[in-house]
Amino acid sequence: RGKRAFIAGVADDNGYGWAIAKSLAAAGAEILVGTWVPALNIFETSLRRGKFDESRVLPDGSSMEITKVYPLDAVYDSPEDVPEDIKTNKRYAGSSKWTVKEAAESVKEDFGTIDILVHSLANGPEVSKPILETSRNGYLAAISASSYSFISLLKHFIPIMNPGGATISLTYIASEKIIPGYGGGMSSAKAALESDTKVLAFEAGRKHNIRVNTISAGPLRSRAAKAIGFIDMMIDYSLENAPLQKELTADEVGNAAAFLASPLASAITGAVVYVDNGLNAMGVGV
Ligand code: NAD
Repeated sequence: RGKRAFIAGVADDNGYGWAIAKSLAAAGAEILVGTWVPALNIFETSLRRGKFDESRVLPDGSSMEITKVYPLDAVYDSPEDVPEDIKTNKRYAGSSKWTVKEAAESVKEDFGTIDILVHSLANGPEVSKPILETSRNGYLAAISASSYSFISLLKHFIPIMNPGGATISLTYIASEKIIPGYGGGMSSAKAALESDTKVLAFEAGRKHNIRVNTISAGPLRSRAAKAIGFIDMMIDYSLENAPLQKELTADEVGNAAAFLASPLASAITGAVVYVDNGLNAMGVGV
């Protein structure tokens, strides 16, 4: 039987989530995605109208099929947590069952189990502010959307994951080194995500035989990265200073994710795997 993957955080064909979906599909996995509710309409419309047809093509010439798109807002665990203004917001009112718990229940109802869970989402409303100017709410929102969201996904999806399964998130080197411009508590959120990767690897490994890893990815011109505002500078910096002087493609991260999700990586868990042309290993720019 082929593996089944749920990839949370796909809303266009530019980000890491899309590339990971493609690499997993190329390796034979069935693809389910979770799409942020406010982005759902445009994503589904674009899919239907063929806007992604070119970027859906896999190395063997076939086309990636997304078996089902689930609405998701990973900031809310269950319906009781959803505030009134979100419930009645017209971008949310058109969809249902998009809290993490309900999304897991829907996947269970539709397919029973999954083998691979990918968290490719982050959000920090004050990302463009230095951390010294970040509000408590902004900081907590970054942690909620970018770090706790992974814990919540694991909590709710592990019960429907087959033993031997794998989970992956995406992190960024700003967790451990100073990257001015990655503000609003996003650096803190990535530090939490990486630390949690270890503790979750222990708990999910011992109890459920599930692996937990995170990919520290180099800079990519995704929608989220463009919103931060310094992505072109980071890409240029990497081109100049990394051991491998080439632009990082989303596919390279997708392929690393497919490896980590596969039996080839059966002894790898609790790891931060750098997929960044080696930039993390540099001490000075040369
Ligand atoms: P992206 O815009 O493709 O992905 C981010 C996704 O998160 C979007 O689809 C967005 O709709 C979704 N999202 C935001 N809030 C959400 C919520 N509350 N619930 C559900 N979904 C939500 O951008 P990306 O850069 O590919 O980001 C994917 C992951 O890669 C993120 O964790 C990001 O931090 C990480 N990353 C990105 C870079 C980079 O340079 N682009 C580098 C290292 C790590």
